[in-house]
Amino acid sequence: MSTETTDLAALDRYECQACGYVYEPTKGDDKRQVPPLTPFVELPDDWRCPVCGARTAKFSNIGTKGAPSGFKENLGYGLGVNTLTPGQKNILIFGGLVLAFLFFMSLYGLQ
Ligand SMILES: [Zn+2]
Repeated sequence: MSTETTDLAALDRYECQACGYVYEPTKGDDKRQVPPLTPFVELPDDWRCPVCGARTAKFSNIGTKGAPSGFKENLGYGLGVNTLTPGQKNILIFGGLVLAFLFFMSLYGLQ
């Protein structure tokens, strides 16, 4: 692992699975005297979620701010038909009809 990768991982945000609180490494946690730019993994062992008191084990890595949670998953959903404009859908439907017609004509031509 390069130093660059480590630095990026250090700024990963962690979300509390119990209450949804997000620990921002760039902000730290002033209630617990955690200075800004403290990576989540370097928080004191007795650090708890400031909202619900959950242990750090209850938190999950949701990535840096530049890559919001669920971004990769959303990319997958974005490839669905729902992203098509009505015009694109019409082209799709019309294209399907033309293909069906050509298919029918080719069958007809074989006889
Ligand atoms: Zn919490």
